[in-house]
Amino acid sequence: MMPQSRAIAIFTDLDGTLLDHDTYSWTDARPALDRLKQLSIPLIAVSSKTLAELEYLNQTADLFDGLIGENGSVVALRNDVEHFGPSPETIDRARQEIQTAINIPVQSFRTVTPDIISAQTGLPLEDAMRAGQRHCSDPLIWKPTDKDVAIARDIAERFSLNLIKGGRFHTLCGLSNKGHAMQRMIERLSVTWRQDTPDAAAKRFVTIALGDSPNDIPMLAEADYAVQIPTKRGKRTLPLLDHPNLHIAPKPGPAGWNEAVNDILDKIINTNKNSEVLHG
Ligand SMILES: [Mg+2]
Repeated sequence: MMPQSRAIAIFTDLDGTLLDHDTYSWTDARPALDRLKQLSIPLIAVSSKTLAELEYLNQTADLFDGLIGENGSVVALRNDVEHFGPSPETIDRARQEIQTAINIPVQSFRTVTPDIISAQTGLPLEDAMRAGQRHCSDPLIWKPTDKDVAIARDIAERFSLNLIKGGRFHTLCGLSNKGHAMQRMIERLSVTWRQDTPDAAAKRFVTIALGDSPNDIPMLAEADYAVQIPTKRGKRTLPLLDHPNLHIAPKPGPAGWNEAVNDILDKIINTNKNSEVLHG
């Protein structure tokens, strides 16, 4: 019989969730991360970062078995990368049309040099270069009025794009989200799993997802166990969504991540043990 652990998959946001909001450290999540490695449970990064940024992080830390970048537009598993669009040409045409329609300069991560991205984000130059390697989404560098934003949203819509306001930037992006990308990754993990273990019965993955922001909601909604990580500077944490299995982590960032993952694994693994005893 296959170890049960193979049929669990964990999907996690990075900034403010697995990574500390200020220091980007995941040290406090180390015990749970080690446990996932021991149990061979795949961990998938799900971020608005670029694939270049995620790959670099994984080269230095080897945390993740799969990568989802640009807020769900890029899905990478075992060097096999899928882009769900839009094409860079569509992004560029929409941005040029926005520039024509409003009276302020509109630049973006795709149009400026890394030193400007570095100045805009506070990222070191090397990181800014990776942040600029975008395929399907483009943070705008502009100082818009509300009216400019409304005009830009209309134009984005005509190109079947979204204009999403993140922490710092308005980003032109496609209509896919973290939830769609998570579904796709589960399909691909299932295929890989069946190839590795041809005798195993088809089994669906039990999924755990962790996030801290509204753009994580579609991913949390897809998961069997949803974990909301409280924000570091928040007052009271209001639930991001209605979910039958929503856990609000006891602490922000990686410390809360660690406790929530360990608690849920205890629950899933103990339940399986009990049912094996009953049915075995
Ligand atoms: Mg986050």
